[in-house]
Amino acid sequence: MDTHFDLIAVGGGSGGLAVAEKAAAHGKRAAVIERHKLGGTCVNVGCVPKKIMWFAANVAQDARHAAEMGIKASLDGVDWRALVEGREGVIAGILDYWNGYVAGEGITQIQGDARFVDARTVEVDGTRYTADHIVIATGGRPIVPPVPGAELGITSDGFFALTEQPRRICVIGGGYIGVELAGVLRALGSEVTVVALESRVLETFDPLVSETVTYNMALDGIEMHLPFAVGSLERRDDGIAVLSREGAALTGFDTVLWAVGRRPNTDGLNLDAAGVELLPNGVIPTDAFQNTSVAGVYAIGDVTGRAPLTPVAIAAGRRLADRLFNDQPNRRLDYENIPTVVFAHPPVGSVGLTEAQARATGEPVTVYQTQFQPMRYALNRKGPRTAMKLVCVGDNERVVGIHMVGDGVDEMLQGFAVAVKLGATKADFDNTVAIHPVSAEELVTLKEPHPDE
Ligand SMILES: Cc1cc2nc3c(=O)[nH]c(=O)nc-3n(C[C@H](O)[C@H](O)[C@H](O)COP(=O)(O)OP(=O)(O)OC[C@H]3O[C@@H](n4cnc5c(N)ncnc54)[C@H](O)[C@@H]3O)c2cc1C
Repeated sequence: MDTHFDLIAVGGGSGGLAVAEKAAAHGKRAAVIERHKLGGTCVNVGCVPKKIMWFAANVAQDARHAAEMGIKASLDGVDWRALVEGREGVIAGILDYWNGYVAGEGITQIQGDARFVDARTVEVDGTRYTADHIVIATGGRPIVPPVPGAELGITSDGFFALTEQPRRICVIGGGYIGVELAGVLRALGSEVTVVALESRVLETFDPLVSETVTYNMALDGIEMHLPFAVGSLERRDDGIAVLSREGAALTGFDTVLWAVGRRPNTDGLNLDAAGVELLPNGVIPTDAFQNTSVAGVYAIGDVTGRAPLTPVAIAAGRRLADRLFNDQPNRRLDYENIPTVVFAHPPVGSVGLTEAQARATGEPVTVYQTQFQPMRYALNRKGPRTAMKLVCVGDNERVVGIHMVGDGVDEMLQGFAVAVKLGATKADFDNTVAIHPVSAEELVTLKEPHPDE
């Protein structure tokens, strides 16, 4: 086999596949090196299996609430094995697709662990491959902190390997993965405790989001201990104990899940040989065009430490290939106003600046917000809270941030994100006729500015 390529993507996840696919579409010889399975985190242990579990959790919740609508249905339990089997079947189908697609597009697939030899050469199982352009798209992996007994806990990867439903689980971490998996498990009937270092979940989000999600999680029966700094895990007669640094103990868990962040997969890449700069936290710094510190070596996706989301990795990869091979020298991803969803119960949708970030710009800020009980819960006095906030700046009240929690906001956000990207103002929102009766209409009918806090 000819071992020289126009472009090699190291990592066959969201970013690596996207850049190789686009390079091939521009008529270039492209290769993808993948040590595990094509599709990477998103397909195998991320977005896809997570979303299927979330859908299942929603069905379980609906069954539990059916009686409020006069529907005679009850939840007799969850067949975890059937759910997992179905989920893995979907993933197998996606893998089949990718394997066929890569071959069909003429992209060379190389199986194995890549290490740099120099800035133009990588080695896999003793064979050297060279390229004019090498793109590092090796993603990340869950962090397990070095505390005594840490190995008693699983990570999100381990969650997707569970063959039985946890009966009583402690989720350590209040970021989006912790919140999502805690919500799924609770809705499916597990007893769930969440602990986190921060005093609120989803701490990086606007406080309205954090507060509303915390309220909804508690309403669902999730026990929360915030802040709680885990010092160790211990196996005891009644199960695993989670001990705080101060000595407080939460006991009796059959499963403990670490959801305390992810670290880029850069350790084994031998980046020194290529001279590529690496930060102490494993992140590869890149400029606005995905260039690393070495010409001809690029990084995209989670490994760059910026907006760790699948569509971001894909968009960065496609634009990079356009820039390198399609005569578009200024093509790059704009990292501003990236919409993001947290699949909590109900979900979160957020785009743009939080209120605090907007105030930090020094521009005049106007905030409109609302909390209400959507009609879906009209017959259920204990339904979750829905909340929405518009953050506007300047005299013309340009909408720079939208933050929402509630049923349907995951689907609602995409269109509103277009409006934010286009620079829509509050007046544009007001001039848009509402759709009734849907929760989204609240966003175009917000009246009084919220008083400064
Ligand atoms: C539980 C969970 C849920 C998520 N949910 C969502 C979601 O709902 N929406 C969303 O947008 N994002 C979600 N994400 C994030 C999303 O999965 C990542 O942002 C995305 O996969 C990043 O793509 P990537 O190409 O950078 O890396 P990855 O998809 O991680 O791909 C990297 C690939 O590189 C391979 N690799 C690593 N090192 C080497 C090496 N030396 N040689 C060869 N191959 C190597 C790995 O095996 C892997 O397949 C979720 C993540 C997790 C963990």
